[in-house]
Parts: sequence; structure tokens; C-alpha cells
Amino acid sequence: ATKKHHVLKKVPDCKNCQAIRFQFESLGFCCREGKINVKIPTVPDELIRLFTSQVHNDTKYFRKHIRYFNSHLSFTSLGVTLDQRVSIAAGTGVYTFRVHGALYHRLDNLVPGSQGPRHMQLYFYDTEDANALAHRVRRSPDLDINLVRVILRILA
Ligand SMILES: [Zn+2]
Repeated sequence: ATKKHHVLKKVPDCKNCQAIRFQFESLGFCCREGKINVKIPTVPDELIRLFTSQVHNDTKYFRKHIRYFNSHLSFTSLGVTLDQRVSIAAGTGVYTFRVHGALYHRLDNLVPGSQGPRHMQLYFYDTEDANALAHRVRRSPDLDINLVRVILRILA
């Protein structure tokens, strides 16, 4: 027996905001038919380069370790009760992230603890350029600090 895939039909882009639409989305789904002005920010060239360049080694490193960068640059940490039966079954199939109960975003105190600044504290604790980078290196010693510097410049 052959299985048929369901494929959505192409529909025209929104005539008001040019959003790419999917079949079955209502006309007002994106911008309420032009009532809401969707501000599309300019993406910095350096950010486009990080995500798309196939020739620079730093961009390949960035994409390979993107989850580490994401975690390093986050304001909060994740609080969950992980289902250990599936999450540590390494080598036995697809990694499975299954949570029991609620999922929290843990926000640290404003003042760093004995381990030094982390998460959002890194954004305002001792922000003198050289010191701020030193704190980040201490927090994530395996990350390419030059790339952290590039990303912080993009965020500034
Ligand atoms: Zn629209």
C-alpha cells in the first residue's frame, strides 16, 4: 500500500505585510489585514554571516556550538524535572526531552553568588569590556571568546 503525504496548497502572500501564508490561515492571521503594522527589524550583516557563511571557520564553529552559545547568552536557566528514563538512554535512539510537571525559567539574584556572575548577571555586573569578557570566559571556558565578543557587539 502506498501512503500519500498531505501537502498544503500554496496560497498568496499577505497583500498588506507580505508575510508568507499557509493554507487554512485566516487573512487576518499575520497583521489583522493591515491593521497592525509589523515592524521588521534590519538584521545585522554580521549576524547573517554567522548563520549563512560556508567559508569562514568561525561561522562553522558558531553553528556547531549554537546551543552552547544560546545557553551562555541566556538570561535564565531552565528548571524542570526531567524524565531520566528517556533522557539518559544514550545511544538507544533519538534524544528525548520529557518533563514531569511544570517547566520554569529560573532567574538568579541580582547579586552574583560565590560562583561569580552568570546568566543575566553577566549583562550588568562589572561591564567594563575586558572584565565582562573575563567573567564570560570563566563561566564558559570552552567557548570561542572572540565569537562571544562578536555576538555581544551585535546585541549592543
Ligand atoms: Zn499581513
